[in-house]
Amino acid sequence: METSKYKPQEIESKWQKVWAELKLDQTLEQSDRPKFYALSMFPYPSGSLHMGHVRNYTITDAIARFKRMEGFRVLHPMGWDAFGLPAENAAIDRNTHPAKWTFQNIEQMRSQLQQIGLSYDWDRELATCSPDYYHWTQWLFLEFLDAGLAYQKEATVNWDPIDQTVLANEQVDNDGRSWRSGAKVEKRKLRQWFFKITDYAEQLLQDLDKLPHWPERVKTMQANWIGKSIGTELTFSLSNADEKITVFTTRPDTVYGVSYVVLAPEHPLVQQITTPEYKESVGAFVSEVASISEIDRTAEDKPKKGVFTGAIAINPFTNQEIPIWIADYVLFEYGTGAVMGVPAHDVRDFTFATQYGLPIQQVIVSQGESQELKAAYTESGTMINSDRFNGLDSLTAKTEIIKYAEENGWGKARIQFRLRDWLISRQRYWGCPIPIIHCPECGIVPVPDADLPIKLPENIELTGRGASPLAQLESWVNVKCPSCGTPAKRETDTMDTFIDSSWYYLRFSDAKNPKEPFAKTKVNDWMPVDQYVGGVEHAILHLLYSRFFTKVLRDRGLLNFDEPFQRLLTQGMVQGLTYSNPQKEGKDKWISSALVNPADPRDPETGESLEVGYATMSKSKGNGVSPQQVIEKYGADVMRMFVLFKAPPEKDLEWDEADVEGQWRFLNRIWRLVTEFAEANPSITNVSNKNLTDKNLKRAIHTAIKEISEDLTGDYQLNTAISELMKLSNALQDSSDKSSNTYAEGIQTLLILLAPFAPHIASELWSMLGNNDCILTHNWLKHDPSALVVDEITLVIQINGKVRGNIQVPASSDKVALEEYARNSEVAQKYLEGKEVKRAIAVPGKLVNFVV
Ligand SMILES: [Zn+2]
Repeated sequence: METSKYKPQEIESKWQKVWAELKLDQTLEQSDRPKFYALSMFPYPSGSLHMGHVRNYTITDAIARFKRMEGFRVLHPMGWDAFGLPAENAAIDRNTHPAKWTFQNIEQMRSQLQQIGLSYDWDRELATCSPDYYHWTQWLFLEFLDAGLAYQKEATVNWDPIDQTVLANEQVDNDGRSWRSGAKVEKRKLRQWFFKITDYAEQLLQDLDKLPHWPERVKTMQANWIGKSIGTELTFSLSNADEKITVFTTRPDTVYGVSYVVLAPEHPLVQQITTPEYKESVGAFVSEVASISEIDRTAEDKPKKGVFTGAIAINPFTNQEIPIWIADYVLFEYGTGAVMGVPAHDVRDFTFATQYGLPIQQVIVSQGESQELKAAYTESGTMINSDRFNGLDSLTAKTEIIKYAEENGWGKARIQFRLRDWLISRQRYWGCPIPIIHCPECGIVPVPDADLPIKLPENIELTGRGASPLAQLESWVNVKCPSCGTPAKRETDTMDTFIDSSWYYLRFSDAKNPKEPFAKTKVNDWMPVDQYVGGVEHAILHLLYSRFFTKVLRDRGLLNFDEPFQRLLTQGMVQGLTYSNPQKEGKDKWISSALVNPADPRDPETGESLEVGYATMSKSKGNGVSPQQVIEKYGADVMRMFVLFKAPPEKDLEWDEADVEGQWRFLNRIWRLVTEFAEANPSITNVSNKNLTDKNLKRAIHTAIKEISEDLTGDYQLNTAISELMKLSNALQDSSDKSSNTYAEGIQTLLILLAPFAPHIASELWSMLGNNDCILTHNWLKHDPSALVVDEITLVIQINGKVRGNIQVPASSDKVALEEYARNSEVAQKYLEGKEVKRAIAVPGKLVNFVV
């Protein structure tokens, strides 16, 4: 009889409909089951799903499906991070409205997600650009305002000249470029809104210890970004003026080696202290530095530049006169905006002093004597040339010098953070309006709760340039002050989209609540997220902001937990086969794989040979693989199996068509195994445990249950879980007796274990076996430890020292177990019948002797 063929396209759409009708993915609210909240970072609705999305969501889906089968009530939602510049830019390009463009994209991406068979509770879908969501973003903004954590100030900001907007520090990359447009970021002074994340710096740092299931790498990145240093503020007076300069240093032990003081060019003292003959050079330098990005100014490998101000400071410890300079590498926003220059003991100061001929005075030595310094000595050691501290160990001297400075009123110990307040206002249209009214009488007035949400006006002209588009709409801007009735103006800036995504995981717990952002009982029930999955590129942006939001809302009494994400998995990138022409430069060097013959890769324009390698899939490299096409060719289950099998979740994955084919063959093999079994309709014979073949199959079945259950717990070794499925399918294929009970158990087990990974084919084959329930609601399996036992020994049974027979028992049995096996054996029962056993002597690995 010919068996049916595996046709994924048919069965996948069929089962997706069935699951939707059965409402299998709906979140169970009323239940005494334990909760599990599985969440993937929600996407920006760009319009098309890429392989990176597929990987992220499939990992979370396999975990969510496993947890449901394990008996958890699972919350597995999906939404859209839908505000932001790309929609506004796309709308300008296409002469449409950002809302229209965004909602079209959402429709398209939702249907793409549904084709992958992801078990989302679509009843909880949210989009951050919908008024019923941003109503609560505005409400939360006012909570921050009320807590004194939202404020406005004039600030030097990162200005993106292409997108014509302000960027947060986190949105400027290491080359000083906008994370979005790639433009070289400039500095401007503007009045902006900030969130006071610095109030939580210490907690955000300390509580990293509460996250043992986060990747170390992410925690280190956050710790470095927060950048706590313990140092000292020291005050230097000026030789010919009343002003004082306060410097921040982490090395007070080097204070006797100070040979100059440096101010940031933006430091307000610069104008006051610069002497007339240096005004011109200082002025020129200040404007030169204003155009350089913070990153360039502080980069390790860039030369440091500076000029002398003509002013002189006095080192209070030595009474020495030291010159005051300004230099590009000192930032006004960091510390006090002034540092002391100790070239002998700081790498950067050494370079600077050598370049400008400033004195280099050594005050710490490693072994007793001072030698000629060829580079800065930055280690600890013994103090020299340091007056009363000479001979001390420099670590001890650090504490002693702080104490001495405090006694004399020259300075004090101080904790310093690198983290700056979060700049949250944007001069663009497609964002959440800031719910503030500026009144000439009352100043900043929050919009009353009853007037929320402040909706984005729809009839607006978008140009992509200049101030906020909202400012042009007078009918929207001009309002009466809600407090005194005076004509007033609305705030025209919108919020950074990272605010929208800082609380969306909370909203999923109560996504449709029209009265509050979320009910306390619901958010405290579902949160924290048990497993969060997303890209490591969010290590310091989204993940830090979300932790900050959680702590603030906890302190406002809205939540009862400290951290939003219990476990974090940062999945690796998906890399595609990439062709580049080494003869070409920049973007032109990448040749789209669609234009290349893989057997002989050449540049279609020039005929030159191409280099072949792997790189993260991207439009610019033309090395992407469309999920749509893979589904059309192989089906969603094969794609899911491939992305889960090809690499451990946290490692990069190379897209390899041959391995996709491998998964196609594997699912076809499972299809054959099960359909042949179903059609053979065997009359099951009860096989005794003594049959070795049967025992081996049983061991393979229970090993697979044990290993896959472990792989799906904790660190999620999803790739090895699929290897275990392959081993079990091999064992079934090789089994010589396909009509035994054990074989039937093996087939069923294979499908149950496969279900979280390839849910469509597992559902189809399960129903083909005549099961009426849906396999996805089946209980997960527990392994039988006795079936795993590999080695047996021959146990001799003696009665009064005489050998009467032997039996096979597990090798690992202890004395008690051996006696039990022996007593229950046929041999013993025959010889001991009607007799009283006085004692039994068990010799492990050998025999049991009954004395009667
Ligand atoms: Zn007013």
